[in-house]
Amino acid sequence: SRARAAIAEHARLVDDFPAPGIAFKDLTPVLADPEGLSTIVTALTHGCSSIDLVAGIDARGFLLGGAVARELEVGVLAVRKGGKLPPPVLAVDYSLEYGQATLEIPANGLNLSGSRVLLVDDVLATGGTAVAAAELLHRAGAQVVGVAVIMELAGLGGRDTIARGLGPDVPVHA
Ligand code: IMP
Repeated sequence: SRARAAIAEHARLVDDFPAPGIAFKDLTPVLADPEGLSTIVTALTHGCSSIDLVAGIDARGFLLGGAVARELEVGVLAVRKGGKLPPPVLAVDYSLEYGQATLEIPANGLNLSGSRVLLVDDVLATGGTAVAAAELLHRAGAQVVGVAVIMELAGLGGRDTIARGLGPDVPVHA
């Protein structure tokens, strides 16, 4: 597809980041490319229906999530790393491959009760981030009904982790 071609052309592989032995896929140049952003947004929204809200995960998920939300004609919510939002927040701590992380959303001012949410990020690795974000949204009364990412890293079990955490019927679109 054109999206695949744009990813192949523009994605950058960075060895030993953020830790020795990790090959980091940097999709920043893919999102900066007009063909890249537009073909990816089209691919990720294809066949996507009955969504009330897009939640983009810090930080490249914000960029992609905004574009996906506009295409679906719904609103967008930033799921932020810890410590960035004014109180009160809903927060979840979770484990990364290396260390701990926190995600937060505002506790007030949103009515997410009953919302059907599409979770958007650039890369799916172990799936821990997606499951943590889904837990926050669930605590706010919403339901994650789909996960859309540009790239899924094979062999890290992300899809299985999402199936265990969110249920086997939640589609993961990569
Ligand atoms: P997970 O929680 O292990 O699935 O990691 C996914 C989160 O870490 C996402 O928010 C990604 O943006 C980030 N991430 C993990 N690996 C990479 C990578 O190789 N490139 C870019 N982001 C990554």
